[in-house]
Amino acid sequence: MLRLYNTLSKQIEEVRPIEPGVVKMYTCGPTVYRDAHIGNLRSYLMADWIRRALELSDLNVVHIKNITDVGHMRQEVLEQGGDKVIAAARAEGKTPAQIAQFYTDRFLGDELKLNIIPAQEFPKATDHVPEMLEITERLVRRGLAYEVGGNVYYEVGKFGGYGKLSGNIAEGDLLEAVRVEADPLKRDPRDFTLWKAAEAGRELKWPSICGEGFPGWHIECSAMSIKYLGSRFDIHTGGVDNIFPHHEGEIAQSEGYAGEQVVNIWTHGQHLLADGVKMAKSMGNSFILSDIEAQGIDPLAFRYLCLTAQYDTRLNFTFTSLKAAQRALLRLRNMVWQWSFQTNGSSADAETVSQWQGRFKSLVDDNLNMPGALALMWELAHSDVSPSTKLELLTYFDRVLGLNITNVLGDYAVPSEVVNEISHRSEHRGRQDYARADSIRASLADSGYVVQDSSAATLVRPKTDWEMRQERWHTYSSEVEVPSFMDEDDRVDLTVGIVACNYLDDVRRCVESAFKWLGDRDAEVVVVDNGSSDGTDEWLEGAAAEDKRLRVIHIDHPLGEGSAKRILLKQCLGKTVVMVDTSVEVEGDIFGPIEGALEDETIGVTGPFGLRTTDLHHFHDGEGESGDMDAMQAYCFAFRRERLNEVGLPRQTFRFYRNLDLDFSFQFKAQGYRIVADARLPVAQHEHRVWSELAEAERDELSRKNYGRFLDRWGDRADLLTCNRPKG
Ligand code: AMP
Ligand code: ZN
Repeated sequence: MLRLYNTLSKQIEEVRPIEPGVVKMYTCGPTVYRDAHIGNLRSYLMADWIRRALELSDLNVVHIKNITDVGHMRQEVLEQGGDKVIAAARAEGKTPAQIAQFYTDRFLGDELKLNIIPAQEFPKATDHVPEMLEITERLVRRGLAYEVGGNVYYEVGKFGGYGKLSGNIAEGDLLEAVRVEADPLKRDPRDFTLWKAAEAGRELKWPSICGEGFPGWHIECSAMSIKYLGSRFDIHTGGVDNIFPHHEGEIAQSEGYAGEQVVNIWTHGQHLLADGVKMAKSMGNSFILSDIEAQGIDPLAFRYLCLTAQYDTRLNFTFTSLKAAQRALLRLRNMVWQWSFQTNGSSADAETVSQWQGRFKSLVDDNLNMPGALALMWELAHSDVSPSTKLELLTYFDRVLGLNITNVLGDYAVPSEVVNEISHRSEHRGRQDYARADSIRASLADSGYVVQDSSAATLVRPKTDWEMRQERWHTYSSEVEVPSFMDEDDRVDLTVGIVACNYLDDVRRCVESAFKWLGDRDAEVVVVDNGSSDGTDEWLEGAAAEDKRLRVIHIDHPLGEGSAKRILLKQCLGKTVVMVDTSVEVEGDIFGPIEGALEDETIGVTGPFGLRTTDLHHFHDGEGESGDMDAMQAYCFAFRRERLNEVGLPRQTFRFYRNLDLDFSFQFKAQGYRIVADARLPVAQHEHRVWSELAEAERDELSRKNYGRFLDRWGDRADLLTCNRPKG
């Protein structure tokens, strides 16, 4: 029987169904005013493995997963002051219900692609407001909640068990945890909202005995879990961020209402990090499933990746590890495919089967040791167990793993013409006419098929999306994978270096204008395609095929600006490097004047748009002036490549572009170089889309953080400023 870590008892406990034979499980489901990110999906995969593990023990699992379509009370929404997607949809005249339905459908699609067994019910919060009000009213009657000005609050001090899940018991902890909400109507700042009065103009609202309003966040899960599973049920799941305040609140509500313990086992999944840090939209690392699919990677490779870490440990997602998972999954499928042609009609060996099944099940039952179960599967794959026994065991393993490995034969089916080609080829091979046999293989490969010869037979299957994708061009997943040419000699006079991520029209304008004014100089244009997904990558490939002076480095997903620039600079081979932003257009010969200026050994950086400061806290642009500056803006930033080993590469902690140019300029200044602007350089600035498409709050936040990074490093280096330099 499955044993799970219970956050409530802080112990690993056996799941003992309250009703024999049936396990009732509730999973905190998605908030549907945005896509679920892959971290959210990891927590649904955990619930799926719990369910599958229980079903392997012949238990019936009743699984409920709610849909949060009243997201108003969520802290993140309060903090962000609204959501851009929602705002855009509203601008198109969509109702909140339509938006919620749209994201609900996408969520269900994601679950399907990940082979997550659908819950029996996906109840929506908006359909259960009467149930929420019923609980709220009873809590008020019992003296556990109070009403003020149309709001109803749970009075935390009245519920003895408050804090038993999260351990947030001391008043200080709680205050710390709820500090974002400062509501003068609350008797105690720890109290949380059950019902909130509707403000003027609110669309989503319901009548209640204390006036029109809408429910708090935690109450929906009390109402829906009790409605569908009763006031005693077995397992409740969510991510660790749900422990407090969400689940702590849910316990207070549900137990205050039912008068007894409601949930036996609370199971929480640890977070998925991305590129080593918490996922956040503003960091550009909040990936969704379609980001994975866009790279030709099977969503089940993500499922595989999640199997490699136990649910209660953090897992760091990188595209490098995801691709490794994709390759492993493909290898596994190919093995299954070959075994199915090697059984020779023999049946599985019952004793071997039961032995391996026992080993597998005890790993799964051991607090979902999926990494162990996966390792056992590979051990089996590489063992000398007979193919038919392997197939039978893999079918059993896959009931829990859910990798769809035994569907391979269906996925690998080919049209009859292809089968005919293969038998022709076999005839040629039989006659030892290998030239003809090879040409058939080559033409099948061109039409998208893989031919594999073995001692027993020749097999053919379609190439997977992933294999097709691998044939297009090489992509890197991280900076460390990209080789550095920094120690190599100059190969050309000039490098124009560009980091591009989408906005094809801008990229094209920028690249074409650079080529136009480079004329027949000894030059190269190096573009880092930083995870474009709008066709910019293909356009760049096409352009590079036509003009050998263009070199493109593809990154499979957008890296931070610091990393992208580091890749760019590691790859440049020109004596002089001119970095240009895709929002600018070269409108005349900038290259001659730049090369001329940089002949002066005291000058480190030149470009048209300088910045000055007198105190490091406020930079202002050179306002069309030329001469000594304190920093050069990234729109056009030129220097000698040989300086890089001395000043270093830009810092990768700058994920967002803003103020990275200040920081990089100061690296030159710190080595004693001057930053000199030439305002006459003919460069036109067009709309800077990366900036203009950000909401104001995001701009402020991201800029402020980067400025902090800059000041942390350079805040006490006022000595470097032009205004403090001795004249002469
Ligand atoms: P939400 O849509 O924000 O309500 O989150 C849905 C589920 O995903 C909740 O159970 C969260 O606890 C969980 N979750 C949120 N972020 C992550 C993450 N980075 N990794 C794993 N699970 C997460
Ligand atoms: Zn919940």
